Amino acid sequence: MPKKKINLLIVDDEEQFLRSMTKWLEVRDFNVIPVDRGEKAIEAARTQPIDIALVDLKMPGMDGEQTLQALKKEHPCMEVVILTGHGSVDSAVECTKIGAWSYLQKPCELDRLLTVLTDAYKKKVMNRMDIQEHRMNELLEMSQYSSPKAILEKIRELDQDEE
Ligand SMILES: [Mg+2]
Repeated sequence: MPKKKINLLIVDDEEQFLRSMTKWLEVRDFNVIPVDRGEKAIEAARTQPIDIALVDLKMPGMDGEQTLQALKKEHPCMEVVILTGHGSVDSAVECTKIGAWSYLQKPCELDRLLTVLTDAYKKKVMNRMDIQEHRMNELLEMSQYSSPKAILEKIRELDQDEE
């Protein structure tokens, strides 16, 4: 079986940064989806499965904080890492209080970036497993008194690869 690539959404309005990040991460087994606007990030996450998102804090239109909130609302398992420049570290810290996994200061130290992304991915996988475990418990509980049809429905629900 081919190894699963990590689907990473990068959202940044700096074209050069977006390009170099994409290149650097693609050779490290990430499937990178680069977009330059928060609005496009929301759209991209609706049409393809995303594991983790790297989101610039300062962007025209939807900023990083708004993008983070919208992504987490629609995809609770996804983990989001905020990118920030000097002078906006306080806002980045605020973002971690409302759901961001972590934040990184630009320019990113690449080893640190890889560590943070790996941890965020690990957390995302754990989020999925928690949900699956919860559902499995529900199934075990309902199996005691439900009809075979209802049990089958529940198993099909479990089998769906929901994000
Ligand atoms: Mg920016």
